[in-house]
Amino acid sequence: MDANRQYKLATTPFAAIPRIIPTLVCNFRCPYCVMDYPQPTHEILSAEKWIYILNNLPGDSVIFSGGEPTLINHLPDIINGLAKNDIRVYTNMSRPFSYWQRLDRTIHILASYHHGQGISPRAVAELFQQLRDAGHYIGSHVIESANTPADDIAIFDAVGIDIKTDIDIRNLKAWKNRGSIPAVLPCKTTRILIGPDGKRYPCLHKLVKANPGDVMTTMTFPNTVECREGGSCHVCDVAIFARK
Ligand code: SF4
Ligand code: SF4
Repeated sequence: MDANRQYKLATTPFAAIPRIIPTLVCNFRCPYCVMDYPQPTHEILSAEKWIYILNNLPGDSVIFSGGEPTLINHLPDIINGLAKNDIRVYTNMSRPFSYWQRLDRTIHILASYHHGQGISPRAVAELFQQLRDAGHYIGSHVIESANTPADDIAIFDAVGIDIKTDIDIRNLKAWKNRGSIPAVLPCKTTRILIGPDGKRYPCLHKLVKANPGDVMTTMTFPNTVECREGGSCHVCDVAIFARK
C-alpha cells in the first residue's frame, strides 16, 4: 500500500460530493430496500473509462453507492487509478477481505449490516476489524427495523464496533405523501448522481430510467431542472426533496 495515499477526508459538503452508482444491482434482497432492481442491461464500463470520467469530475471526493458497488469486480482497480484523496464506498460487506486487499490505498468504507441476507454478524464484524486493521476508515450502520435483532447489534458492541442506526425511509411522511408533489415542477437537484453509464442524472428516478433526454451535461451544484414526472420520484429522491 502506498503510504503517501492515506485516506484524507475532504471538506466538501457531503451533498455536493459526486455519488457514483456503477451498478443498480444488488446481491441482497433486504425487506426495507428501496432499490428498483431493473434488469442489469447496462454496459459495465471498463476501469479505464471510469477513471477517465471520475478524474474529470470537480473536487477531491467521490462516493460509490448502489446497488452494491463491489459487484463491479474491477472497483479496486478504478479506485487505485483515481487522482482524488477522498474516496468513500458504501458496501453490504459481502465481499471477502481479499477483494479489499487489491486496494493500494486507504479509503472510507461505509459498511452496512443486513440481517438474514446470508452473512452472519460475526463474519461482518470480523471483516470490519480486518479492514480497520488495514488502515481503512470505517463507518458502520444498520437500518432501524424489526428485521434487525438486538442480538446482532450486541455482537458488534462486544468487539467495540459503534454501529449507527439509519431510518427506514419507507416510513417517511414525505414518501407517504408523495401524491401531493405536483406533476410538473421546477426541481432543484440536491446531488451529483452519476449512473452506470458514467452520465449525470438529476435524480435516482431518472437515473434508473436512463433516458438520454435527462442526461445533465453540467457539473454545477445545485441547479434546477424542469420536471414533468413529479410524484414518480424514487423514495430516496422524495426523502431529499422533503428537506429542500
Ligand atoms: S444491501 Fe442495500 S442495496 Fe442491497 S438489498 Fe440491502 S438495502 Fe438494498
Ligand atoms: S422525478 Fe422527482 S426528484 Fe426527479 S426531477 Fe422529477 S420531481 Fe425531481
